[in-house]
Amino acid sequence: MVSENPSNEGNPKRQWSLEDFEIGKPLGKGKFGRVYVAREIKSKYIVALKVIFKEQIEKYRIQHQLRREMEIQTSLKHPNVLRLYGWFHDAERVFLILEYAHNGELYKELKKKGHLSERQAATYILSLTKALAYCHEKSVIHRDIKPENLLLDHEGRLKIADFGWSVQSRSKRHTMCGTLDYLAPEMVENKAHDYAVDNWTLGVLCYEFLYGVPPFEAESQADTFKRIVKVDLSFPSTPSVSVEAKHLISQLLVKDSSKRLSLQKIVQHPWIIKNANPDGIYKK
Ligand code: ATP
Ligand code: MG
Repeated sequence: MVSENPSNEGNPKRQWSLEDFEIGKPLGKGKFGRVYVAREIKSKYIVALKVIFKEQIEKYRIQHQLRREMEIQTSLKHPNVLRLYGWFHDAERVFLILEYAHNGELYKELKKKGHLSERQAATYILSLTKALAYCHEKSVIHRDIKPENLLLDHEGRLKIADFGWSVQSRSKRHTMCGTLDYLAPEMVENKAHDYAVDNWTLGVLCYEFLYGVPPFEAESQADTFKRIVKVDLSFPSTPSVSVEAKHLISQLLVKDSSKRLSLQKIVQHPWIIKNANPDGIYKK
């Protein structure tokens, strides 16, 4: 029998080690680590094992960031947030036991298709909105949502991964982080920011899902910066996108963070109601 989780039922503090897993094919390589598909031997449960060398952690001084990422991600349990089941380490490496996302990066799907249909885009935006509402309730701001950090499971359900830049906070934040294209004006300008930065990013993603490119793309970082700060938004004539979708995007890409559409209102937006699959599953 295959249980729902790696077999730590009734013992959440279970100590894992490499002997508990059979390692399979590599899934990818990130800045700091490699990820492999793996099977927990006792439960036969399939997971993704992320391996990070301690030398790298020390070299880039990411000890605190990694610990924060691990603690935040362990505390989040939502169908659209990639689970972190646990972690362990040996002399050289840290291992993260992650939920396995069989269909890989949404980014690859987007590149393959060029742009997504309104049904697919709306289904992902609804899943993301629900996941962010859950994170915000727990005082977590992700701050680094981009297609590369969105994975798809075997049913085509979206999972937010990579909480490396996320923060758990109730106050306005000042730190600079993330990739420029997805950043809200208040973050680009290094002003105080709050939960509404994730709402801005939803607008950027919705645009990118439907048009295949992010809205403020430019030749240089300095030009992207200028376009974000001006909210230099325009909708190309191709591909053809519905007025409802453009309406939603325009209500999220608003300079004044307090005037952006709330997560609750996104869920009720006519474009979402009309196009999104409420169970979050999108199958080709
Ligand atoms: P970063 O170091 O900034 O996180 P990254 O996201 O590219 O960069 P990783 O998170 O280490 O790096 O992941 C590397 C690759 O492995 C990803 O691009 C993805 O394709 C794959 N991957 C990561 N986690 C999973 C997972 N849980 N399930 C399936 N594939 C995964
Ligand atoms: Mg990653």
